[in-house]
Amino acid sequence: MTSELDASLTRGTRPVVVQKYGGSSLANAELIHNVAQRIIHRKGDRVDVVVVVSAMGDSTDKLIALAHAVTKGSKPDAREMDTLKSTGELVSSTLMAMALKSHGYDAISLSGPQAGIKTDTVHGSARIADINTRRLRDELDQGRIVIVAGFQGLADSGDITTLGRGASDTTAVALAVATSAERCEIYTDVDGIYTTDPRLTSKARKLAEISFLEMLEMAVLGAKMNPRSIELGLVYDMPIYVASSFSDEPGTLIHGGEYTMEVRKAVTGIAVDRNVAKITVRGVIDRPGVAAGLLQPLADEGISVDVIVQNASSEGTTDFTFTVTGADVQRASDVVRAQTRVEFAEVVTGTDLAKVSIVGTGMENAPGYAARMFSTLAEAGINIDMITTSEIRITTLIKRDEIQNAVQALHDAFELEKTD
Ligand code: ASP
Ligand code: MG
Repeated sequence: MTSELDASLTRGTRPVVVQKYGGSSLANAELIHNVAQRIIHRKGDRVDVVVVVSAMGDSTDKLIALAHAVTKGSKPDAREMDTLKSTGELVSSTLMAMALKSHGYDAISLSGPQAGIKTDTVHGSARIADINTRRLRDELDQGRIVIVAGFQGLADSGDITTLGRGASDTTAVALAVATSAERCEIYTDVDGIYTTDPRLTSKARKLAEISFLEMLEMAVLGAKMNPRSIELGLVYDMPIYVASSFSDEPGTLIHGGEYTMEVRKAVTGIAVDRNVAKITVRGVIDRPGVAAGLLQPLADEGISVDVIVQNASSEGTTDFTFTVTGADVQRASDVVRAQTRVEFAEVVTGTDLAKVSIVGTGMENAPGYAARMFSTLAEAGINIDMITTSEIRITTLIKRDEIQNAVQALHDAFELEKTD
């Protein structure tokens, strides 16, 4: 977002809170009614409340399916598609405003364009360029609860854009930044961020807090949160609170500040990505330009490559291995086979792999965590296929059917069920 955004800030007298409710929390009239009551409760705290809503249930999927049904397989027009998709959030935002009014509260719905959300023109995955909060501020100053349709904005062309799947979170964090809100609250069907996927171990524990950087690693690697919204929170230092819309259990605060506990664990969580494939290009002549020669055609096709390993060469040739998501493996191996810049002997693919990572800012500059991770996996009889690290993450590639075994062993080894 540009600095114009900062210039458009106007502070009202009451603190602003932005709340966002996901589609599963709004799936039917009864649920919308319940969420309206939660909003009213929050409003009672003498705050200005801005609410961002997603489309009801899976209605975005239904709209997309309808578009494909009428075009009979050919790609629907991008401009029309965005206007169509934006209607899902118009339904939920208008219904929410009606529900609040029926309780005697003054509320108004605003579409993304009405809320001043300006984007670039990339239909289907537009980025927010600027937010003009004047209208929103006016409505808040009149004591209204403002319900903003998530996931959408207005391009300079005058057309409606959408921000990408799951991007109502992004709308919410951006509006929190633009209105100088105290924090952005995201209410969903999970009640917070856990040390790992609770389906993999009963010892998974809900975290009271997690840093933006850790959350980014967890989000990218599988935890359910839109990474763009976390990035925005990080850049603008906007705390994001994630909790359930179905209970009053405390959730998880994602923030950039110091942890409140002086002594805290180095490893915060275990992230899992279940659908990874690897591609090995064998017998590649070892000379400059080989890596670029193999990877550029993949980038041109929009295929993202993750872990990359080039073996030490013997007799002038080498093997080059990289991973892609399971969905891309066929396309990626076709692209590598078809390219002509780099000679190779054969392309071999391996599927049914998974990434298991330990994540924690406390691992930074602290030796020994990799060794402990690898010995834990070895003791559990799990073979590591590839390894990659960042400053706050160590990732291993293993067989998919060993995920549960690996996660349970690591969760125990790093004592993640304990709070300190
Ligand atoms: N309704 C949109 C989607 O499903 C945006 C969102 O849910 O955040 O992608
Ligand atoms: Mg959704």
